[in-house]
This record gives sequence, C-alpha cells and structure tokens, in this order.
Amino acid sequence: MIDHSDAMLLPDDEHNRLLASNVHPPDWVNPTPEGRYNLVVIGAGTAGLVTAAIASALGAKVALIEKHLMGGDCLNVGCVPSKGVIAASRAWAAVRDGATFGISGTEGVRPDFGAAMERMRRLRARISPVDSAHRYKSLGVDVFIGEGRFTGPDTVEVTGGAGSRTLRFRKAAICTGARAASPPTPGLKEAGYLTNETVFALTSLAPRLAVIGAGPIGCELAQAFARFGSQVYLVEALHGILPREDRDAADIVRESMQRDGVRLLCCGKDLRIDKTDGGKRLTVDSHGRHYDLTVDEILVGVGRAPNVQGLGLDTVGVAYDTTSGVRVNERLQTTNPKIFAAGDVCSPFQFTHAADAMAQIVIQNALFPHPLGLGYASTGSLIIPWATYTEPEIAHVGLYEAEAKRRGIELDTFTHRLDEVDRAILDGEEEGFARVHVKKGTDKILGATIVAAHAGDLISELTVAMKAGLGLGVISATIDPYPTQAEVIKKVANAWRRTTLTEGRKKVLRRWFAWSR
Ligand SMILES: Cc1cc2nc3c(=O)[nH]c(=O)nc-3n(C[C@H](O)[C@H](O)[C@H](O)COP(=O)(O)OP(=O)(O)OC[C@H]3O[C@@H](n4cnc5c(N)ncnc54)[C@H](O)[C@@H]3O)c2cc1C
Repeated sequence: MIDHSDAMLLPDDEHNRLLASNVHPPDWVNPTPEGRYNLVVIGAGTAGLVTAAIASALGAKVALIEKHLMGGDCLNVGCVPSKGVIAASRAWAAVRDGATFGISGTEGVRPDFGAAMERMRRLRARISPVDSAHRYKSLGVDVFIGEGRFTGPDTVEVTGGAGSRTLRFRKAAICTGARAASPPTPGLKEAGYLTNETVFALTSLAPRLAVIGAGPIGCELAQAFARFGSQVYLVEALHGILPREDRDAADIVRESMQRDGVRLLCCGKDLRIDKTDGGKRLTVDSHGRHYDLTVDEILVGVGRAPNVQGLGLDTVGVAYDTTSGVRVNERLQTTNPKIFAAGDVCSPFQFTHAADAMAQIVIQNALFPHPLGLGYASTGSLIIPWATYTEPEIAHVGLYEAEAKRRGIELDTFTHRLDEVDRAILDGEEEGFARVHVKKGTDKILGATIVAAHAGDLISELTVAMKAGLGLGVISATIDPYPTQAEVIKKVANAWRRTTLTEGRKKVLRRWFAWSR
C-alpha cells in the first residue's frame, strides 16, 4: 500500500508536478493577515473554493485555508480522476465489443492500463489551474496553505508553511470534506489496502483486485478495473449493489458489471483478511457459500467519514458527530451562529454539485443576514440529482417510491424502456429505462430514476422541470430532436398524457367523430 500522505501526488512525473504547482505550490508563501476577514473558509475543496470565489467577487475580504491539495477530493482523488479512468475503460470496452458494430481486426488488442492512468493524470493536471492557489490569489482571496483550527470565538490558527498565523473572522465556513471510512474488517489494516486517496496513483494493474463496498465508488471502479483486465471480486455486506437505488435499476447495472467479469459476493458475512506470501487472502461467506480468495490489492469504498477532528470545534461550540459530521440547520449554520458549514463535512448528499449549491447558501446567509432573520437561503429548496457512472449509468432525482410510501405520498409512476427508443437501439445502448413518479392524479414530477448509457446527462431535463415546477404535460408538448436517447423522457411523458384520455373524454370524442362523419 502506498503511504496516504504522499500518494495523491504519485507517481512523481511531469503531470503530477504540474498538478502540485497548481494545487500545492511548493514555494507558496502564505500572506500576512491584516485586520479582520469577512469570511474565513477552512478547506479548499468544491465547497470552500466556491464559497471563497463568490464571496471575494462580491467584495468580501476572504481567507481560504487548505492543508493539502486545493481542489479537494473532486479534482485530486474523486470525480476527476475516476471519470478519467472510466472514460478510458469505456473506450476499451467499445474496442472489445467492436465486432457488434462490424469492426474487425481487434483480436489480440489489449488495453494499456499504465497509458490510461497517464492520460488521467495529464487531464487532471490540465484541469487543475482553475482550482489553483495562484488563481485564487488573483481573485483577491488570501490563500493559506496549512492546517486550520479554531482557537477562539473569532480566530482561526493556520499551521504550516513558515510557522503559524492567526486569522480573525466575522464569519467562518467549515468546508473540510470527508475521507474514506475504513471498515473494522479483521486483518484489513495489517494487509494494507487502497482507498480513493491511493488508487489513482497506481501505474500498473493489479491482476486480482477485491473491492469492498458496492456503493457508487466501489461499483464505478470495480467495473473500470474489470474492463482493464483485473479479476475483480466485489464484496458487499448488503444484498445486491447500489443499495440506495431501485432494485430493478441496480440489477441492470449489476448484470452489466457481471458481463464485464466482476464477481459479486453480496450478503458477505465474516469477511477477514490475511497477508500471505502470494498476496492478500480474503475469506468471506456469501449466500451460504464460503469463499477463500487471494488477491493482489484491496480497494475499500465503504462510505465516507467527515473531517471534523483537529478543527477545534469544541472551542467554538460547534456541535458535530464523527459519523454524520458538523450539525447544521437548513441555513447551513452550525450551533455557533457565526460559523457555517458546507459540503461533505455536513451533508448526506456527498456530491460536488451539492457542495457547490451549499456554498451559495452559505454566502447568502453568512454575508447578507437579514436583521430579522428573513429572506435566508435554505437547503430545503435544493433539488439535488445524482448519478453513478457505471455503464449503463444510474441517475436519480427527488423521491423514490419507497420514500414516498413512508411519507404517505401517493404516486402515479410511468416507466419507458430504452429498448423501445430508436436511438438507443441504433447506438447499441438499449439497456435501461426512465421512470418518473408524479403526484397521484396530476403531472407534477416528484422523482425520477433513469438507467441508461447517458443517464447522468438525461436526468437534467427532469431536474429542470422539477425546479421550474413544469409537469409531464410540458415535457409531452416539447419537441425533441429525432433520434435521441432523450426521447425516452418524452415517451414517459406521453404515457402520462395517454392517461388523460379518460373513458368520459373518449366517449365525447366518439360522439364528435360520429356526428362529423
Ligand atoms: C472516487 C470518488 C468519486 C467521486 N465522484 C463524484 C462524481 O462523479 N460526482 C460528484 O458529484 N461527486 C463525486 N464524488 C464526491 C465529491 O468528490 C465530493 O462530494 C466533493 O469533493 C465534496 O467537496 P467538499 O468541498 O465538501 O470536500 P473535499 O473535496 O473533501 O474538500 C475538503 C478539503 O478540506 C481540506 N481540509 C480538511 N481539513 C482541513 C483543515 N483542518 N485545514 C485546512 N484544510 C482542511 C482537505 O484537505 C480538502 O482539500 C466522488 C468522490 C470520490 C471519493
């Protein structure tokens, strides 16, 4: 296993050196703080970056503190590298399956994992200037590279660089994110394992890989690595994969992953790991069968733990929990009214776009408080979609059926399959469906799930509709270009439209046509 502290910037090549020069410049000199800041932001992941950039653009005096890499998880060890790796694995799968499109001559062609990882590092470095310390400085933000910690009611101490600095604040934002949670599996620590912080530093493919945890991160990477040629064992304590999603939706992804060679060991019990001469030995019981496997690497993706330690939160009366993170109200205000939080450190929605949206709420409420507490921005108004970038992808927004049932909300549900959409058939991407839940007896959209090659893109149409209060009636009356996979949503809307043709209306129409013949 690669050491956590160095791993994010390994290997030491031109791409990672460029990345470092942007996100953790080796020669960075922290500014000398002068006077009080309107806003001190701890953590320069998506939540912190967006908070600092907008606050500064509005004219506030802002300090941004980052202890490791500007850009946080998303740029360095999350969305960006994972989607880079997934893109390469998809390109390879298209070559592998080329014969179905009439492409021959690909026999014997093999994916080059090392080259795919290098491409990812190159593109990550290319994207990194936007999150860089120098850019933020040019935006007027005082960027401090070091570890931030509350030391008094209006002070944060930054340790790092050349000594420590004390910053005074009017308002502060905790944007310290989360890290990979580690399960208490016997033997795991001793055997060594990869997490999202180390897996993107690999330069050669592990021939045998165990992935522990079949959530979004585990599934995305299990499929990608299986496509590159690893024998992947996906070990999950619960039944099936992607436990949050509808079962029939997750099952489509599971079947696709299994076709790619992923071996799923779900309902896994009594998992234990031993280091042996031949690798890492896993024993686990799954569905009444005992498995005894040896792998070269183990990747753990069993959820996220909020970064709440070492921040001096007790000093400033900010309540937190080591599992759910910093406690916030709907205004994203912590139990200390001067201190706010945004992003993975305080939210069950651990997505980049959610961190971005929360940052905007923090700016409104921290910098423009109404004297009577009116007109505040609230998380209650957020409609947050999400997607898992397996192939096919799963995307969701709003309510699930089970959730609606729990809340006593009655639904009408409309589903349309991709294998009845011309473009999906022509693209060879006909697995999946779009499903929309509306409030019973109306066209008001309350939730949607899409399983499709481009579900993450398709869900946006429904998210906009929900946000704007547009129902399936408007979607049904909207013209889509033909042929597109987005037509699947129109077809769902048309299914709703047909229900408006009631027996009573049909009778009236029959009479009208009889009369007008
Ligand atoms: C493998 C993987 C894939 C993902 N893919 C997606 C995806 O496709 N789409 C999506 O929307 N989301 C994805 N995510 C989730 C996404 O990365 C996070 O939701 C997002 O990064 C959260 O941003 P944040 O600002 O809250 O936290 P982070 O990005 O974690 O940033 C927090 C920052 O705070 C710094 N910090 C912590 N403590 C201190 C301190 N005391 N002083 C100074 N600095 C400190 C950290 O070093 C870090 O840089 C993925 C995550 C992973 C792990």
